Amino acid sequence: MRDEGGRLLLRVEDLDRGRAREEVAEGQRHDLRWLGIEWDEEVPAQSTRVYPLDGLPTYRCDCSRKRRREGLCTCRHDGGTAGVWRFACPPGPVTYTDEWQGEQTWDCGDDPVVRRRDGEAAYPHAVVVDDHRDGVTQVVRGADLLQATVVQIRIQQALGLPTPRYRHVPMLLGADGRKLSKSHGSDEIRALRDRGWTPDRVWAAILPCLGLPPVHLHEAVGLLAKTIVPAGPFAFDAEARPVPLPPA
Ligand SMILES: [Zn+2]
Repeated sequence: MRDEGGRLLLRVEDLDRGRAREEVAEGQRHDLRWLGIEWDEEVPAQSTRVYPLDGLPTYRCDCSRKRRREGLCTCRHDGGTAGVWRFACPPGPVTYTDEWQGEQTWDCGDDPVVRRRDGEAAYPHAVVVDDHRDGVTQVVRGADLLQATVVQIRIQQALGLPTPRYRHVPMLLGADGRKLSKSHGSDEIRALRDRGWTPDRVWAAILPCLGLPPVHLHEAVGLLAKTIVPAGPFAFDAEARPVPLPPA
């Protein structure tokens, strides 16, 4: 990214209310810095921005998930007057080229919620608007979002916005094979830190999963650019025996 002249932006995506937003965000910033990951700019958090639905074809729908699944919802055509706001997504599959996983063809699924019942913005729309506002040209994220990307592409098309380049990297799983969640990620790093792990030891545990030698972060960045990261998910085992690091 940076070797191509890019800048790394940090955006706190905190639309979900009910969590200690600033506390969680500060924990995440701290963990990233602790791991040696620095960003060029932090853009405004989603909770501080507004997301008007102007220009996006939407309709209101108060139907249950079951009712929609059974095809009984007619809100898209009849115009609902209550409930969530959904994007009237054009039907049919979308194809795009992922920089890591190659050509992807997915159906968009059910019309996505773009504004919640309480009037709050919803992620699929907010992220598209933010990527445009923040001048994002490349998105690097986990492969669990390969399909969600086609919804974002449909929203970009509806708003006449360009589609950034997408690179979906394999998921880093816990030793139990389950996904490490964003909200728990911070706790996981904190737990390792509390057990006396150093940033070097974390990297030394992750890098061999990628077929790389256990080196220091500054060396690993150079190696990563030239490495074939596995196409499938890989597991991170925090209980594994530490790999000895070469002298700094
Ligand atoms: Zn409906």
